[in-house]
Amino acid sequence: MAGSGIAHLRGDKALLSVEDLVVEYPGGRRGTVVRAVSGVSFDVLPGETLGIVGESGCGKSTTGRAVLRLERPTAGRISFDGQRIEASGERELRPLRRQLQMIFQDPVASLNPRRRVRELVVEGLSVTGTPAAERAAAAAAVLDQVGLGEERFRELLPRQLSGGQAQRVAIARALAVGPRLLVCDEPVSALDVSVQAQLLNLIEELKSTHDLTVVFVAHDLGVVRAVSDNVLVMYLGKVCEFGDAAHVYDRPAHPYTRALLDSVPLTDPDRGFAGPALTGDIPSPLAPPSGCRFRTRCPLVDERCAREEPRMRQVAEGQYVACHHPVVGAGEGAVETAPSPAQGPDQPRSPSPSRT
Ligand code: ADP
Ligand code: MG
Repeated sequence: MAGSGIAHLRGDKALLSVEDLVVEYPGGRRGTVVRAVSGVSFDVLPGETLGIVGESGCGKSTTGRAVLRLERPTAGRISFDGQRIEASGERELRPLRRQLQMIFQDPVASLNPRRRVRELVVEGLSVTGTPAAERAAAAAAVLDQVGLGEERFRELLPRQLSGGQAQRVAIARALAVGPRLLVCDEPVSALDVSVQAQLLNLIEELKSTHDLTVVFVAHDLGVVRAVSDNVLVMYLGKVCEFGDAAHVYDRPAHPYTRALLDSVPLTDPDRGFAGPALTGDIPSPLAPPSGCRFRTRCPLVDERCAREEPRMRQVAEGQYVACHHPVVGAGEGAVETAPSPAQGPDQPRSPSPSRT
């Protein structure tokens, strides 16, 4: 699917390519719709990990579910391994289902409570054509790969597992079917910090031993940084910034990315760029602000932001941002905006309340 015309897409090399994805849900009241995802584009090359970050409700999970076709997109294009799947029916998707696997936030809830660990993994294997006689051994092997090789784990029920163990079982189940693309939706958010690191290491390790391509959704930027090659920053259903993880983290160009990073406890005290902290409520997705959706919370807002929606443009090699006043050359304590700053971040102007 070459020639998308979307600047940050890398053409035919991608395993997963998403263009102008829109996903709408019926709203609370009759006739209203929630546009959970509103024109999102990104791609993931084989073996890459894409991190998707943003505050709760910005459309991360919906994006993840849509690319695995657990959700039907309202509009847009999704290509997996060169095949367009946005409109595929369940029959066409069936041969791909094995290759498209998902790990959820709540590992215990994602597992059938009445099945033992062994059965949960064997169930997965039954769709792969593994002969019945070999499934028990194959399940034991995959459980070993996720660190649950001891025999005693195999007979436990999900509720008898710790959160970390249950997530390992969920990963084993996904691995057993031979996935190529793994979408991890907040896979460690519900776990203790010490367990988080172990799970992240496990996912990293399995990624290389199983040739996985990963989409990693999380609201925790620290977690995403640890695992991602590229990062997609979302706000109210749209992409603010996309690019190489090191660039996005070390010199974030979008005021939203900067604010998000500032709300993360600094693990690296040398990083220390001064950006505005994130304040104010997220507007309702039923009535997003005109122009730039972030303008009601943005310290750099001016009248153009209400009038005109910023288009995605390149600010550095491998870094793209949708902002009228992107910050360039950040990271050295310098705060410059391009092309010309409307006002400095030290002079917040009260945002215009008008919405469309
Ligand atoms: P995130 O994962 O970033 O927290 P979601 O993708 O879960 O965001 O949700 C994006 C928006 O879509 C939110 O406003 C949410 O309330 C809404 N939404 C999500 N799932 C549904 C659904 N099944 N029905 C209606 N609205 C939904
Ligand atoms: Mg979510």
